[in-house]
Amino acid sequence: MQHIIDRFISYITVDTQSDPKSDTTPSTKKQWTLAHKLVEELKQIGMQDVVIDDKAYIMATLPSNLQKEVPTIGFISHFDTSPDFTSNDVKPQIIKNYDGGDIVLNKAENIILSPSYFDDLLQYKGNTLITTDGTTLLGADDKAGITEIITAMEYLIQHPEIKHGKIRVGFTPDEEIGRGAHHFDVAAFGADWAYTMDGSQIGELEYENFNAAGAKITIKGKSVHPGYAKGKMVNAILIANDFISQLPGHEVPQKTTGREGFFHVHHMKGEIELAEIEIIIRDHDLKKFEQRKELLQYITENLKAEYGDFVSLDIKDQYFNMREKIEPVMHIVEIAKEAMESLGITPIIKPIRGGTDGSQLSYMGLPCPNIFAGGHNFHGKYEYVPVESMQKAVDVIVKICELTAKR
Ligand SMILES: [Zn+2]
Repeated sequence: MQHIIDRFISYITVDTQSDPKSDTTPSTKKQWTLAHKLVEELKQIGMQDVVIDDKAYIMATLPSNLQKEVPTIGFISHFDTSPDFTSNDVKPQIIKNYDGGDIVLNKAENIILSPSYFDDLLQYKGNTLITTDGTTLLGADDKAGITEIITAMEYLIQHPEIKHGKIRVGFTPDEEIGRGAHHFDVAAFGADWAYTMDGSQIGELEYENFNAAGAKITIKGKSVHPGYAKGKMVNAILIANDFISQLPGHEVPQKTTGREGFFHVHHMKGEIELAEIEIIIRDHDLKKFEQRKELLQYITENLKAEYGDFVSLDIKDQYFNMREKIEPVMHIVEIAKEAMESLGITPIIKPIRGGTDGSQLSYMGLPCPNIFAGGHNFHGKYEYVPVESMQKAVDVIVKICELTAKR
């Protein structure tokens, strides 16, 4: 366990925050520091074909130790951390044998990680927790995943009696700004399927995510002196208001859960001459997703009929539910499920209310469900990870390699 703690801390103490405003890959130069360190470490534990490209994508191979042909599988994590909160100078705290009470993250600032607010904590009584000092995020998202993959590879190298096929490892920059899969060379990776180790709570196994689109509505108005405006003024603000009021009021993020989709109006600005609305559309069900896009079209046409040709709509698809690509190869989920069950972990299979790199990779030809990495409260100062969950994730990776070779 100490080995996992040391390895994890050696990663989280390197700042790798990504930046959505940057056009380069990686989006921040500082991501190279950890990337180079990971390359050295992969070589040092005995991985083969360790390669880093000019965009900091890392790939490595653990060769098969079998005579027969078995599928090549991969494990993928990202080494950047969220732009939402700083990862500069992470000072982890280690709480051994957690007693189920409040954890003081920062005494001076009175920042407390409490199970009365974060009740997930209670399931980790007796575990060793790694937390922040309340001033940064932790970076378990997704350096826990990297720790687990490297530790599992090291274990397999040290235990040649465990038989497995060819295993590929991939580490990416810039997942947190939605670009982790963009430059991922699926052909060079050459795996039949892969798993992202990027979920949260122990047991999580995910192969469903939202279908996602973004819509921008632009409304042009006509400004006329209000005293003489009758029959002449077109007020873009009021038309924007009309548009929003025609959306189903209950289908919003704050009133939906599980497989319920929504419209999320996340940006608006308006003057008489010009108003803009930005909406994201999310739905697991492809048919309902299309219907949502049609509704925006319908509202636009109605407003045009009423006010004239002042309203325009632009919808762009963002990503799709990976379920469509996973269902034809459900054995890859079954293997992960069986691996967890054989280790006494109850699989928690639920649809993700978001997207993952795995969903993009699945559409790029690499079916890629997501497995827990163990951390909680990502992207903020309350982030923490139980070391026992990281250990279990290592065991799951090893077991998946073993089971894939046996099938
Ligand atoms: Zn992540």
